[in-house]
Amino acid sequence: GHHAEHCQIEVVAETGSTNADLLARVAQRSLSAATLLAAETQTAGRGRAGRTWLTAPAAALTFSLAWPFAAPLHALVGLPLAVGVTIAETLADFGVAVQLKWPNDVLQGGRKLAGILIETATAPDRQVWAVIGIGINLSIPEPLQEQIGQRAASLPAPAAQDRDLLLASLLSALVQNMRQFESHGLSTFVERWNRLHAFAGQQVLILDQGKVLHEGRALGIDQIGRLMLQPDGGASPLAIMAGDISLRAK
Ligand code: ATP
Repeated sequence: GHHAEHCQIEVVAETGSTNADLLARVAQRSLSAATLLAAETQTAGRGRAGRTWLTAPAAALTFSLAWPFAAPLHALVGLPLAVGVTIAETLADFGVAVQLKWPNDVLQGGRKLAGILIETATAPDRQVWAVIGIGINLSIPEPLQEQIGQRAASLPAPAAQDRDLLLASLLSALVQNMRQFESHGLSTFVERWNRLHAFAGQQVLILDQGKVLHEGRALGIDQIGRLMLQPDGGASPLAIMAGDISLRAK
């Protein structure tokens, strides 16, 4: 199998989606080691379920890490949570406090500061790769204000000026935490995630493609990363699986 002892680092001026590029290279078997691909500008950034991640030149830190995953495929479901913890703890080292929104967003003051998109691909040699895409807003320039201005946050100074240092720190923390995740799953991340939970104890709506599935109080994540929800009306807590589910403050 592959070993993630060395990490290849590549920076390009512009590409559509760093996730798409790395997924294609996994499929063509052109990756032999863990690879970080960063783009100065991403023109077709992706979100979950075909949604788009909007950025403008120099306005975001956008990169993906392709990682040869040394654990069973089903273990990957909790990975967005471990990556959220990694981003939050790294930003804390830069003096930026953030909160996590289940399953895959990083918020500051209730607005989305960073997005996480994890996709997987199996190489022709059957090695499973996780491609971890991260976009962190450095600023919300004029052309994007209208579309996402109300819902997006950007990194405050001086962290935003330390973009390269931040990327290096994120990579180092990701590598360390990926190894932890491969050997112990979510176990070392659950408490850390729950401490960072943006909606702990708050009333929320759980949506499936815009339709309300459940209403209740968000408790926190369980050992396998499901969101525990105390439904209105006193029934016992529900465990919500990620799938294509969204969460909204009520
Ligand atoms: P939701 O935020 O609705 O729960 P989600 O977490 O699945 O959905 P993603 O698919 O991760 O969202 O990200 C895509 C969504 O993020 C877009 O639909 C848009 O609303 C929002 N968005 C797009 N670009 C940015 C950005 N640069 N900053 C903040 N939010 C953005």
